[in-house]
Amino acid sequence: MHKVIIIGSGCAGLTAAIYAARADLQPLVLDGYEPGGQLALTTLVENFPGFPDGILGPEFIEHARKQAQRFGTEFRSGAVTSVDLSRRPFKIVAAKETFECEALIIAAGASARMLGLESERHLLGHGVSTCATCDGYFFRNREILVVGGGDTAMEEATFLTKFAKRVTILHRRNEFRATKIMLDRARANEKIVFMTPYVVEEVHNVKNQSVDAVQVRNLETNAISTMNVEGVFVAIGHEPNTQVFQRQIQMDDAGYILTHDGPKTSVEGVFAAGDVQDHHYRQAITAAGSGCMAAIDAEKFLAEHKI
Ligand code: NAP
Repeated sequence: MHKVIIIGSGCAGLTAAIYAARADLQPLVLDGYEPGGQLALTTLVENFPGFPDGILGPEFIEHARKQAQRFGTEFRSGAVTSVDLSRRPFKIVAAKETFECEALIIAAGASARMLGLESERHLLGHGVSTCATCDGYFFRNREILVVGGGDTAMEEATFLTKFAKRVTILHRRNEFRATKIMLDRARANEKIVFMTPYVVEEVHNVKNQSVDAVQVRNLETNAISTMNVEGVFVAIGHEPNTQVFQRQIQMDDAGYILTHDGPKTSVEGVFAAGDVQDHHYRQAITAAGSGCMAAIDAEKFLAEHKI
């Protein structure tokens, strides 16, 4: 039996762990599918206050993990396969083991949808990115490709024109899912060009560990061509990692956990932090902030219930 279990070890989960451990709650962190979360998949983080020269995402996560351990956080690897939040203690099954807790912090994150290409996976953090706010700065005066036809693609492309020489939005259909206002804004931007209906078939150059071109296919003519670009931003949506909580906790239509009064969820004693409940800001610093709030409220909840 644990006082607090934290599901997820990204920025939100680790911050919650540091605060809960320092409150002497001896939290248990269940790592999940992607230990370290999205920061573990990125390279240089330049917008987290306190690191004037930036810090590598995996290094940042390693530091936060050690910091949580120093105050008594226990870590277990393995993905969560089922939960029972119908009564306390809550039950969580991970790696075939059942864990029980009086307060639960869900910080399971969201995963960026990817195109599914092997080359894309190899070059993630080396020219392929899923976050313009995080990585746009590295692409000054470069040719950039943004893949997607929704609001995120329009927003990322518009943001990237601050740095890029030119941004090409490549989308698989001639119609766009993006709202009119976002689409019109992108269309009015002189630095943005549109390519439809196209798909990316390959990202080059895995051998050099950097992006120098993409191979694309026109879906009307099937013609294959190569485009020289130095950055590829995949902006085809995110999936919150909430499948195991379905029908147990309130979520919005896209599967993000609904919170109120800060990190509180529809189940008393269950708190949510980070991207699992935020599809708007999605930043390391906002995830950390909400992880801190979840731990403080979990501590208060346990104190009120004299646990
Ligand atoms: P989205 O609306 O689901 O759009 C995803 C886009 O990616 C679609 O155009 C889709 O193509 C394309 N796509 C999906 N899978 C693909 C694949 N495997 N290969 C190629 N293309 C693929 O996602 P989103 O743009 O991230 O937006 C999510 C939600 O957040 C929306 O409700 C949006 O309005 C909101 N949002 C709002 C703002 C804002 O107001 N400032 C900014 C960002 C996001 P198809 O259209 O062909 O399916």
